[in-house]
Parts: sequence; C-alpha cells; structure tokens
Amino acid sequence: MQTEAYIHSIETMGTLEGPGLRYVIFMQGCPMRCRFCHNPDTWYISRGRLVNVDWLFNDIGKYLPYIQASGGVSVSGGEPLLQADFLEVLFRRLAAIKVHKLIDTSGFASVERVKGLINLTDLILLSIKSIRPARFQEMSGQSPERTFRLARYLTQIEKPVWVRYVIIPGITDDASELQELAAWIAGMPNVQRLELLPYHALGVYKWSRLGIEYPLPQAQPPTEQQMNEVRAKLASWLPGRKIV
Ligand code: SF4
Repeated sequence: MQTEAYIHSIETMGTLEGPGLRYVIFMQGCPMRCRFCHNPDTWYISRGRLVNVDWLFNDIGKYLPYIQASGGVSVSGGEPLLQADFLEVLFRRLAAIKVHKLIDTSGFASVERVKGLINLTDLILLSIKSIRPARFQEMSGQSPERTFRLARYLTQIEKPVWVRYVIIPGITDDASELQELAAWIAGMPNVQRLELLPYHALGVYKWSRLGIEYPLPQAQPPTEQQMNEVRAKLASWLPGRKIV
C-alpha cells in the first residue's frame, strides 16, 4: 500500500478540470514530452513535494462543503497514473464519503497496473495527442499503444470518459485527422463528451526557465472562428454527441 506521493501543487476551488467546483491535485511526474505541454515543470517526479495520504485526505476534508454537492476531486498532472497505487488508497477513502473522483490522464499506463484505481474513478478525462500513431509519437514522444489500449478497456467496462483534444491551427486541426478522431469516438459509446481545448502559450516561459528549447515556437492559439469551424465539423461527424 503506497501512502506517499509526489505532487506538484493543489488548487482548492478549480472549475476547469471536470464538472462543478473541484479540489484539484496536480501530480508530479510524466513520461510524455508533449510539444505543447504547458506544465513541463511536472515532468520529473523527484522535483515534486512528497505528501502523505492522511494529510491530503484531511486537507480535502476542509473543502467538502463546497465540492461535495456538485463537484468533487480531480487529479491531473503530470501523469496521475504514474502514482496509481497511492491514488487508489486516496480514492478508496474518498469513495467511502461519497466524493466524486476524476482523473485527467494521457492514458500512458499499463491497464493491468491501474485497473484498481480505474474501478474507483467516476470519470476519466482522456487526452488524445493525435489519433494517428506516427503523429502521436511525434507530438508526445511516446507510442500511442498504451493510451489506445486503456481507451479500449474503458469502453469495455463502460467507464464514463470525456475525450480532450488540443486544437493548434495548422498542426492538429487537419480535417482528415479530425474525421479519424470522430470515427474513433463514434465507436466508444462511453465517451460522454469531446472537449476541444484551444492551444495557448501561457506555459512557454516554463520551458525557458527549465533551459529547454520550446519545440513549437511558431504555434498560435486558434481564433474563436477557427474553434467554431472545428467544432462544427466534428458535430457533423458525431451527431448527438456533446462537443464543447
Ligand atoms: S501528458 Fe500532459 S503533463 Fe505530460 S507532457 Fe503531455 S501535456 Fe505535459
């Protein structure tokens, strides 16, 4: 039983990581190296802050009146599934007091190793870096095999999923690739919504602070019109599905 974990930070009243008002834990450590990552300071696990499960559970307890009604606890990162054993201990305790729990993940994990945690999780936010294997590898530095295998498992057990996809004009908004993404989602009835995240450059300063060259210096955030166009295309390929 793992009772300690490395975290990056905590946001006690988050509104962007899942439904309602949420206590958000950003875990430290990530095996991916996404070219558009805005949290490169979460990559190395040993640079995190070591916390104990009792401390974290008690801290969450202070916010229960705010998060219990319509929100819950979200775990993001970094890659939360890297420290799945610790989260399983935490989620078991949260389940006992009926707190909604979600994980925001890139899916880079062995299904066998994270099954216990997934079973305790109410909702998975699954980030797809690209639907095409070669592009996925290029964008994230990792093979998509584990992510797609986890996605298949989530469909098999009918686990509620929100798919997240970052829109970078000229890089991830190619119509044929979006159509492939839509076809993939169409085969997953457990996907409750597709969240399109507009690329932003707010984390670029962290790359230079870490002394790493930013790999997408030309990337620009999409305009409102570009986002609407992408949303309209996907809506036409995914009738009846929620796209935000
Ligand atoms: S999975 Fe998330 S934290 Fe990890 S490199 Fe990609 S964007 Fe950054």
